[in-house]
Amino acid sequence: MYLRYGYGIDATYLLIILALILTMAAQTYMRSSFSRFSRIRNMRGLTGAQVAQQVLASEGLYQVQIVPVGGSLTDHYDPRSKTVSLSESVYNSTSLAAAGVAAHECGHAIQDAKGYAPLNIRAALVPAANFGSSFSWPLFFIGLVMSSGILIQAGILLFCLALLFQLVTLPVEINASRRALVKLETLNLLGTEEYSGARKVLTAAALTYVAAAATSLLQLLRMLALSGGRRRR
Ligand SMILES: [Zn+2]
Repeated sequence: MYLRYGYGIDATYLLIILALILTMAAQTYMRSSFSRFSRIRNMRGLTGAQVAQQVLASEGLYQVQIVPVGGSLTDHYDPRSKTVSLSESVYNSTSLAAAGVAAHECGHAIQDAKGYAPLNIRAALVPAANFGSSFSWPLFFIGLVMSSGILIQAGILLFCLALLFQLVTLPVEINASRRALVKLETLNLLGTEEYSGARKVLTAAALTYVAAAATSLLQLLRMLALSGGRRRR
């Protein structure tokens, strides 16, 4: 291909390496914050499940179920079944990290109840984003090999769908954490110093979503560089 620097190195790989470093740094920071604040108990001795229960009750969301789920960092809210699933290390834990994560998932339940638009947009984008992330690179590379501009453009377009999903995810996640922190404070679930620990965990989690979106953006740049090079050849 083009953009080769003498020794067969594709310069656009630099973008991929940068993306990898970003992703790994964000994930390492998240895991270390989570494990650090997993070791600190909250003064009231509330488990993640109890925090979730109180947050949901404060909004009158008694129909939302709170269930334990296997795995680590597998916590999520499912709007179809109205279920907050908390990983075992959150459900039964009385740590600051558990309180933060449990309240965050309830933040999604509150978004759902209030009809928060980005949450609905994100849900609507799921099939297109899945399709896009599966087929964009194969189409793009077949397009490059066959020198087919249409296939290359289709690949880029599909990739943009996956990127759009990640961009819409950002306000959804940040807003859920903001709602969580307001609840932890106003319901007096955590003391002032404890609150800052929970906030650090949620900030670290938000950074992983920012890193994921930035990674996709770098991949899009790589696609554009590769397709531009094809035209110049
Ligand atoms: Zn979330």
